[in-house]
Amino acid sequence: MRSKINPGMAGAARLARGHRIPHSDSVRISKVPSEHLPADRDSHNLVRNNPNKPLRIMKFGGTSVGNASCIQKVVEIIRTGLTESDIVVVVSAMSGVTNKLIEAAVQSEAGNREAVSCIFAELRKRHDVAIHALIRSDAKRNLIGQQMQMLFQEGERLCEGTMLLRELTPRVRDSISSLGERLSAPLVAAVLAENGVASECIEATELVVTDSYHGGAEPWMDLTREACEARLHPVVQQGIVPVVTGFIGANEEGVLTTLGRGGSDYSATILGAALDADEVIIWTDVDGLLTADPRLVPDACLIPEISYREAAELAYFGAKVLHPKTLHPVMQRGIPLRIRNTFAQDRAGTKITPDGFTNGGEVTALTAISDAALIVIGGPGLVGVQDVLGRTFATTAAVRADVLLISQSSAQNDVCLVVPSAVAKRTVEALRHEFAHDLAHEKVEHITLDSTVAIVTVVGQKVRGTSGIVGRTFGVLGRENIEVIAIAHGASACNISFVVTKKEMKAALVATHQEFQLSEATSHKLPAGCTDRPATWHYESERASAEAD
Ligand code: ADP
Ligand code: ASP
Ligand code: MG
Repeated sequence: MRSKINPGMAGAARLARGHRIPHSDSVRISKVPSEHLPADRDSHNLVRNNPNKPLRIMKFGGTSVGNASCIQKVVEIIRTGLTESDIVVVVSAMSGVTNKLIEAAVQSEAGNREAVSCIFAELRKRHDVAIHALIRSDAKRNLIGQQMQMLFQEGERLCEGTMLLRELTPRVRDSISSLGERLSAPLVAAVLAENGVASECIEATELVVTDSYHGGAEPWMDLTREACEARLHPVVQQGIVPVVTGFIGANEEGVLTTLGRGGSDYSATILGAALDADEVIIWTDVDGLLTADPRLVPDACLIPEISYREAAELAYFGAKVLHPKTLHPVMQRGIPLRIRNTFAQDRAGTKITPDGFTNGGEVTALTAISDAALIVIGGPGLVGVQDVLGRTFATTAAVRADVLLISQSSAQNDVCLVVPSAVAKRTVEALRHEFAHDLAHEKVEHITLDSTVAIVTVVGQKVRGTSGIVGRTFGVLGRENIEVIAIAHGASACNISFVVTKKEMKAALVATHQEFQLSEATSHKLPAGCTDRPATWHYESERASAEAD
C-alpha cells in the first residue's frame, strides 16, 4: 500500500487539471490492493461524473463518519454534490477512534496487554456495527469485514511488537494511530458503492509525500502533485469517487507518516492544491467558523465569510474546527475553502476567500489555546550572556517546538515564550542545556516553566491599524479582574494575543466576545432563512452517539 517515488522528480512543473502528465518513469507507484467498487445498480440510481464539471475536495471529520446514520448523511451529501461537480472525498477516522488507538499504543509500551485487547475488541465491534447497518449483501459485508480484519491484525501486531520492546517509536505510533482512517475510508467507499456511487478507497500513502517527521510531517508539494496527477486524476476522470484516508502520508521511502492530530483538514487542502481543485469543503459538526469556540462561548455566531488570513490566524491559535496548517496549501493557489455542517446541509456555512468580508476593521472572532506553557528565560545572570534571542530560537527550532507567542523587551535580556504543552518539557530541557555553560556559576534557575497558562487571540482584518481595539480588549479584561501575563501585538496586522491563566481563559473569552458584540456583529450577514445560532443543537442525538474525539 505504499508509493515508491523517485526523489529525482522534485521540482516538477505545476500541472493544470485536465491535462494528464505523460507517463513518467520517475513516478513508480505500486498497485494498491484496493479495487474499484462498482456502483450497486440494482438498488439506486447510478450517479455518473462528467469530465467538464468543477472539482471539489470534500473532507468529512470524525463526527461526520462517527456511526452508520452519520455515514448515510455523508453519502447523501456526496450524491447530491456529484450532480454539479466531481468529488474527491477525504475522511477522518470515526470519532474517538484515533484517541483509542493512541491509548492502545501507550498501553502497549507499558506492557498492559489486557487494556490493549479491550481497545481492539471495542474498535472491532464499533466498525462491525457500522458494516452491518450499512451493507446489505452478505458477500459484500464479508469482503469489507475481511479487509478490516487485516487492518486490525496489523494494528495488533504493531502493539505486540511495542509490548515486546517496551518502546513506542514515533514511527510505530504513527502506524498505529493511522489505522482509524485506514478503516473508515474503505467503509465509506463501500457504502458509496452500495448507494449507487462508483468509488475507490485510496490510501494517502500513495498520494501525500512528506518529510520523515513522524507525528507532524510536512508535505513535499511537488512530489505530492505528481503522485496525485498519476494516481487520483485518472480515477476521477473515469467517474469514480476516490475516498482518501485523511491524516496520513508517506515519506519518500514509502514509510507512513501522520500530519499531526486533526490533520485530515490539512490532507484535504493538500489534495486540493495538488489537484488544483475549484473548492475544498470541510464538512464537520458545526455550521462553519464561529466567532468563538461554541463550547466556551455559547453566544458564538456563524461567520458567513472570512479572509484566508483571519481564518489562518484562528486555526493557528486554537480554533479546533481547522487544523493549524489547513490554509497554507490553498492560500498559495487562491482556492476557496468552505466549512459546512454535515448535520444541517441546508446551511451555507463559512466561505474562506482571499479577501473575506471587510466589516470595517473591527474584530471578527476570538480563539484560545489552553494546552500551552509559558517559558521564561530571565534573571540577572543573563545580562552578560551573548545572543540570548538567537540561541533561544535555534534551540526551539532544533526540538521542533512551535513558538506561539514571544515577548522580549528588557535591559536584562529576559525573554518569555509560549509553546504547546506537548513540547514544553523538551523545550525547557533543551534551553537549560543550551545556556548551562553561561549560567553554571548562578545559583538561581533562570529558565522556568509555567503550565497553568492559556493564550487568547483576538482576530480581525485590521486589528493593528484600528485605534481602540487594544484599549477595549485590555479595558474589559481589567474590569473583569483578569490578569494579563504576557502580550504580543504588532507583528501581525490581524491579531492581538495575550496570556492569561487557564482558569481565567473562558472568562476572558466571554468578556471580550461581549465587548466586541460578536454575537450581534455577524447576524446581519447571514443568508436568508438562517438564524444566527449554530446548528449544534439540532442533532444532539447523532452527535452524542458518534462520540466526539
Ligand atoms: P471534525 O471531527 O469534523 O474534524 P473537530 O472536532 O475537529 O471536527 O472540529 C469541530 C469543533 O471545533 C466544533 O465542534 C467546535 O466545538 C470546535 N471549535 C472550536 N473553535 C471553533 C470555532 N471558532 N468555530 C467553529 N467550531 C469551533
Ligand atoms: N483522526 C485524526 C485525529 O483524530 C485526524 C483527524 O481527525 O483529522 O487526530
Ligand atoms: Mg478536526
